[in-house]
Amino acid sequence: FLTIKGLAKSFGDNKVLKGIDVEVEKGQVLSIIGPSGSGKTTLLRCINALEQPDKGIITFDDGFEINFENKVSKQSIQSLRRKSGMVFQSYNLFPHKTALENVTEGPIIVQRRNSKEVKDIAEGLLEKVGLKDKMNLYPHQLSGGQQQRVGIARALAMEPELMLFDEPTSALDPELIGEVLNVMRDLVKEEWTMVFVTHEIQFAADVSDKVIFMDGGYIVEQGTPKEVLKAPKEVRTQQFLQRVL
Ligand code: ATP
Repeated sequence: FLTIKGLAKSFGDNKVLKGIDVEVEKGQVLSIIGPSGSGKTTLLRCINALEQPDKGIITFDDGFEINFENKVSKQSIQSLRRKSGMVFQSYNLFPHKTALENVTEGPIIVQRRNSKEVKDIAEGLLEKVGLKDKMNLYPHQLSGGQQQRVGIARALAMEPELMLFDEPTSALDPELIGEVLNVMRDLVKEEWTMVFVTHEIQFAADVSDKVIFMDGGYIVEQGTPKEVLKAPKEVRTQQFLQRVL
């Protein structure tokens, strides 16, 4: 469904991604784990075209391809961006818009879809994440967990082909993590194609088809959750899991 080959990205002298190869199958969940600074967020941002890689090829099985070694047009960057919906660590909601307006903004302004239709869809999505009764509240009137669920509804409203989650629960108080993970579990059941960057190792073990362990800009190890999380072969993976479990 999505194939990434040889992805490399530096910020100045800092080589953050050093040749990443990843495949995601349709309807599957890929979780990326690894220490802070290993490049996980940067990888997601490259998939969502929020960062432009220096090198590498991103291909979708509908024939879409970008080779970052060539000159890349604005249009293909935009097409890449529209393929995925991103859920951010810090929610990134518009503070002066209600929950409902946060969800309808992209489809109406960016995608120029019919506003009445979008509003109906957005209400449905807010209901799906358990927030129909809060749809007219502003972000500051919502808890972190509620804001993050609005963030998920907002990403879904753009009707992406895949969903990317960048440590969606790491800014939350412990008692609010469960409600966000439950929404993510529902999306797993609906067979969304998803990439999770997560520190929730148990959640990754439960829902992932594949787990990648990254360190120092490389993929050190990948496989089923059982292989990578229960019986890691690489010392670096073993040490990381010992630290976090
Ligand atoms: P964490 O778990 O802490 O979020 P991560 O594995 O997601 O870490 P990244 O956020 O991808 O790691 O960061 C990898 C490296 O890239 C870090 O050294 C970071 O300082 C650097 N970096 C990320 N974004 C930028 C940027 N826009 N400009 C400069 N350096 C950046």
